[in-house]
Amino acid sequence: MTYPPVPSARKRPIGLTILAVLFIIVSVFAFFGAAGAAAQGAILEAVGMSPTAVIITGVLSGILGLAAGVAMLMGRAYMLVIGAVVIYIIISLINPFLQPAAITDPITGQQIDLRGQSLAGSAISILIALVVLFYLTRGHVKAFFQPAPSAMYPPPTAPTPPPPPTAASACPTCGTPLQFVPQYQRYWCPTCRQYR
Ligand SMILES: [Zn+2]
Repeated sequence: MTYPPVPSARKRPIGLTILAVLFIIVSVFAFFGAAGAAAQGAILEAVGMSPTAVIITGVLSGILGLAAGVAMLMGRAYMLVIGAVVIYIIISLINPFLQPAAITDPITGQQIDLRGQSLAGSAISILIALVVLFYLTRGHVKAFFQPAPSAMYPPPTAPTPPPPPTAASACPTCGTPLQFVPQYQRYWCPTCRQYR
């Protein structure tokens, strides 16, 4: 006789999936930005920008975003995700001030308000990060990060032998003697077709 599997208590909220994928995409772009700064460092320096600052913040937010995205998908390392989002907010706050306030476009000679643009971008990033923080503290999202020991960490040694079916093991609903299913360590009522 076969039994249906015990439904998993850990179902990833759809919002978490979307946010995790967004985090991973944004992280990839951060790495591209850092790579671009590394490749065109001379151009950045020519207009008075520091390629090192762009590379460091790009790589750092890329690593943080990737780690947070993967942890969110797996429902693991809740504190790491919270910490990554908080550090991401701090980087977004500092980032506009790592660069000169304005640069002169070497071709057109026009002044570009670099800090203003950077602050606007940071404001959007911080707003998104705050929404993520708020969402992560919702009960059903937090619950997804709770470990499910029976499913995720099977005991390394042989499980203790199941208690023999006794008269006490009767279905509380219909009174039919319950069958112990060693595979799931649960009692099965053949009449109700449910685990008890
Ligand atoms: Zn029953």
